[in-house]
Amino acid sequence: MVSTHSREAIIVVDVQNDFVDGSLGTARGVEVARGINAWLREVVGADAEEGAEINSRPLIAGTMDWHINPQGHFAPEGEEPDYENTWPVHCVADTHGAQVCGELNPELMDVWFHKGEYTAAYSGFEGHLAREEQTLKQWLNSLEIEHVTIVGIATDFCVRATAEDALKAGFGVTVVEELCSAVSEDGAAKALDALRAAGAEVIAQPR
Ligand SMILES: [Zn+2]
Repeated sequence: MVSTHSREAIIVVDVQNDFVDGSLGTARGVEVARGINAWLREVVGADAEEGAEINSRPLIAGTMDWHINPQGHFAPEGEEPDYENTWPVHCVADTHGAQVCGELNPELMDVWFHKGEYTAAYSGFEGHLAREEQTLKQWLNSLEIEHVTIVGIATDFCVRATAEDALKAGFGVTVVEELCSAVSEDGAAKALDALRAAGAEVIAQPR
């Protein structure tokens, strides 16, 4: 049987409590979580209304920063993080901060990938299925996905790293600026410029 899925996936990066309004909250975190939720409801809902097969719409993968002992990723106790390489403690596995933000219905995602148990792991491409070994890249390839649309947090770190790895892996990449929240606006502008230069399409709003 010929597969009829759209060869398109949406990757929702790290919309977790700590990045929305927790230890590493970002300015537009809540707004972005709500915006992604509304958009994904349209993506999933339109499919249901038309009575189409589930695989005629883009598949939706969520990534979660999921730290156990991520080496030097957290600033040492008593030291200030530099917000480049060291960070406040965040997204510790199985804590409230690591849970999906309440503004985003986790059931809208078809699958979840965890990353960063023992490394910094900014990129979703370092992620694997929870309790399984299959990586995000293997999952995308197994479904013959050719293009990914990336949204989430933070524009200047994990969204950027995920998009760069997607390009390196040969996927077409679109980043939706309005549905990404940044650590710094300056950093976000640089990240989006770098992604454009590397071949990604950056669009203001979802289409
Ligand atoms: Zn982290």
